[in-house]
Amino acid sequence: MKNLIVANWKLNPTTKKEAEGIFSALGGPASGWNEIEVVVCPPYIYLDCVRSDLTQLKLGGQNVFYEEKGAFTGEISAAMLKDLGVEYVIIGHSERRKYFGETDEIINKKIKKALEAGLKVIFCIGETAEEREAGKKNEVLERQLEIGLQGINLADIGSPLTINIAYEPVWAIGTGNNCGVEETKESIDFIRKFVKPETRILYGGSVKSENSGAYIKEAGSNGLLVGGASLNAEEFIKIVKSAE
Ligand code: PEP
Repeated sequence: MKNLIVANWKLNPTTKKEAEGIFSALGGPASGWNEIEVVVCPPYIYLDCVRSDLTQLKLGGQNVFYEEKGAFTGEISAAMLKDLGVEYVIIGHSERRKYFGETDEIINKKIKKALEAGLKVIFCIGETAEEREAGKKNEVLERQLEIGLQGINLADIGSPLTINIAYEPVWAIGTGNNCGVEETKESIDFIRKFVKPETRILYGGSVKSENSGAYIKEAGSNGLLVGGASLNAEEFIKIVKSAE
């Protein structure tokens, strides 16, 4: 099973030229990444322009809508992503939950639609600082997993690599305050009880090249979801190498 490293560019960069620049800086080394799966998730608007440079890099969407077509201004369907050559989609990111009101139920609908369209899913879960302090971390993770995956029979999904879980403690995202390796290991072990043994569980939250290797080698994760650091090609390449 290959480790999975995902670059989440969020709402960056500002220009198409910059997007193409980051993508092609990754394109060279990517040809040597045989043992690792690297997915770049730019804003929707850049998906098509970075596609022409595709080497071994794969493309992912940062979000998807749960309807196929119709009067849903501003939304993008799973079939549209698939048609552009997109292979993965991030669903349930904490920024979507926080700023766009995405509930576990909405996330569940999105996961189902993405799977129906043949996309692979990177399903994000994680507790807030308040939930962690109140000792509710496992309760939150269990609820997010149960509702997010409701009605989805993991046994029916051909490859266990189709649904990937990203454990992203909300308090660690974009704060520079990455989760300790021991604590990450505990959470990953907890999450494993709810998924197939081969399911890849990623860690995300202020990953940098100095801390990335430990999540794979010590915390037992099968990859990383990288936000801020993925916009710097040189830094991101170091992160990928640490997971080899
Ligand atoms: C993310 O966007 O999912 C993320 C983990 O961001 P960062 O690496 O910047 O904390």
